[in-house]
Amino acid sequence: MFDRELQDLERRHLRRRLRLVASEPGTVVQIEGRSVILMASNNYLGLANHPKLKDVAIQATAQFGVGSGASRLISGNLAPHSALEEGLAQFKGTESALLFSSGYLANLGLIPALAKPGSLIVADRLCHASLIDGCRLSGADLRVFRHNDLDHLGSLLARRRARRSTLIVTEGVFSMDGDVAPLPDLLDVAERYEAQVLVDDAHGTGVMGNHGRGTLELFHVEGRLPFHMGTLGKALGTSGAYVVGPHSLIQFLMNTARPFVYSTAPPPATAAAALGALKIVETEPERRARLWTNRHRLHAELQGLGFRLSETVSPIIPVLVGEPDKALALARHLFESGVFAPAVRPPTVPKGTSRVRITVTSEHTQEQLDRVVAAFRSAGQQLRLIDGV
Ligand code: PMP
Repeated sequence: MFDRELQDLERRHLRRRLRLVASEPGTVVQIEGRSVILMASNNYLGLANHPKLKDVAIQATAQFGVGSGASRLISGNLAPHSALEEGLAQFKGTESALLFSSGYLANLGLIPALAKPGSLIVADRLCHASLIDGCRLSGADLRVFRHNDLDHLGSLLARRRARRSTLIVTEGVFSMDGDVAPLPDLLDVAERYEAQVLVDDAHGTGVMGNHGRGTLELFHVEGRLPFHMGTLGKALGTSGAYVVGPHSLIQFLMNTARPFVYSTAPPPATAAAALGALKIVETEPERRARLWTNRHRLHAELQGLGFRLSETVSPIIPVLVGEPDKALALARHLFESGVFAPAVRPPTVPKGTSRVRITVTSEHTQEQLDRVVAAFRSAGQQLRLIDGV
């Protein structure tokens, strides 16, 4: 069963496999009996394995148990969930927040609340699968605009029926390219056409902006966007996601968003640890400073070697190689040199743009980054992706 389909994926270099990681997501991990530098995790601030947060999770488990026992509307609304929501609303400067079990589920719950059959959704071509699936689930008509191309967005909006309810969907920091949406200009277009805007700031939260409040803070547009969503599984080191916005939106989602209503609440330990992570983001700006120092160094050195990088401005540094087999070969060479950074291939990224996506964290040491650059130099020369020196 499915053998033929799997062989077909294999033949096209598109088959994916799980790799067993036998340690916590620090800067060095044990994979298949080898110790390798991890350059693939979204644990940008090193919070996923922070000792204090482990303690917070253990204490919450001791107090509230390992599971929530039910959907929050039934009996699973535990103190850590509510405390996290209050913390998120405060951090983001909104009236309220609602916690979801994952970013994928938040987008499936939120978008159908914002758009209905008959509405129009216009989404950036590089939007994450969860956004696209949320758009499809809403039953609205979905159009796609070229990545960050506001002229194209404007032309699609200009052609729509007058006064049609419209939602623009984009990411703050794009997950596979590491660039940002031009939010101030995008909001100008949205205002001109009276469209709502949903920003998924999964990769911006904790990282972007002076206080790590995300891409909205980076662009000083917090006051122009009444709501947005983001995740807790990246810079905040835990798991789950949130929607922040006005009380009425949050109450509406609590009543109608099916992934919220019909799903067991996240474990209390996760919520408690996420609130702890938020406090670290607020009180330890030095983590972000280290992150940016590491990011600028690695980006400059890879660019200096002659690799083709995306237009990234974030700790996500995609090394573009084109075809899936080449991306796999680069990842294999890197692994042999002790660096783990997997190939990212279609359908995660568009055809012809396969890449090795590396992510750098505040916790990588200079020696580790030296080894990463050396591994890229040797792999790039062997595969003729860069010139020999
Ligand atoms: N949105 C974006 C932009 C993402 O990158 C991701 C995670 N890859 C998600 C949503 C989904 O979040 P989660 O992993 O919490 O389901």
